[in-house]
Amino acid sequence: MENLNFSPLNKRLIFDSHAHYDDERFKEFSDELYSELSKSVAGIITCGCDYESNLSAMKLAEQHDFVYFAAGIHPCNVDSVKSPETAINQITKFTKHDKCVGIGEIGLDYYWTQETKEKQKEIFSAQLELSKKLDLPVIVHDRDAHADTLEYLKKYQPRGVVHSFSGSVQMAEEIYKIGMYIGISGVITFKNAKKLPEVVKEMPLDLFLLETDAPYLAPAPFRGKINNSSLIYYSAEKIGDIKGISAEAVLNHALENTKRLYNI
Ligand SMILES: [Zn+2]
Ligand SMILES: [Zn+2]
Repeated sequence: MENLNFSPLNKRLIFDSHAHYDDERFKEFSDELYSELSKSVAGIITCGCDYESNLSAMKLAEQHDFVYFAAGIHPCNVDSVKSPETAINQITKFTKHDKCVGIGEIGLDYYWTQETKEKQKEIFSAQLELSKKLDLPVIVHDRDAHADTLEYLKKYQPRGVVHSFSGSVQMAEEIYKIGMYIGISGVITFKNAKKLPEVVKEMPLDLFLLETDAPYLAPAPFRGKINNSSLIYYSAEKIGDIKGISAEAVLNHALENTKRLYNI
C-alpha cells in the first residue's frame, strides 16, 4: 500500500478548492486521511464528473464537516448523458443540497476527448446557462481548449474559477476581466512549469484559489505520488517565493478568496 504524505502545517489554513475524494485510491485510507487532513485543512471542495461521482461527492460532504461539493458533467464524461437536458436535470437536483457550492467540474478537453468536441460544447454551454439561472459559481476545466473556453466564458460571464490554470498571462487577464478566479495547482512546483510562474508573478492576490486536483498533480517533492489537500502547503511556499510573501500569507489569501467565491 502506498503511503500518504502530509503537510507540516499545524493550523487549519488550507482551503482546497478542487479535489476528487471519491477516487478509488482514497478509499483504503479513509479514516487516517480525514483525521490527518483535519489538522491543516479548513475546507475542501470535492468535484463530481458524472452522475455517480456527483453522488459520491455529495455523500463525502455529508460525512465530513469541512468537505463541500460541486456537481457537474466533466467534458471527458459527456457520453454519460444523453442530452444537455439530461445533464441539467441531474445537476439541478444536486444543487438543492446545502453543501453543494457550485457547478463543476465542467468545461472543454481537446487533449483526451477531441472526438466529442461538439457534444462537449453543448453540455458546457447548458451548464453555464444553469449557473447563471441559479447564480452558482462554475468550476471550469480547460485542457488544450483555451480559445473556445474563453469564448464561452466571455459569452456567459459566469462567476467561478478556471481550475488548474494552464493558460498565458494574457488569458489570465481576460479571466479576471470577466470577474473570475484562476486555480493554481501543484504544477507551480514542477521544474518544467514555464508559463505558470509568469502567471503567478502577475496575478492579483485577491483573484486566485489554491487546489490539488487530488489524487492527481501532487506538488514537488511528492510529484507522482497520491496527492491530498494538505500538500497545498508546498504550492503555497512556491507561490510565496514568487510573490515575496510567506506561505501562510498565500494560504490566507486563498482561504479568503475561496470563501468569498463560494459564499462559505
Ligand atoms: Zn480538470
Ligand atoms: Zn478535477
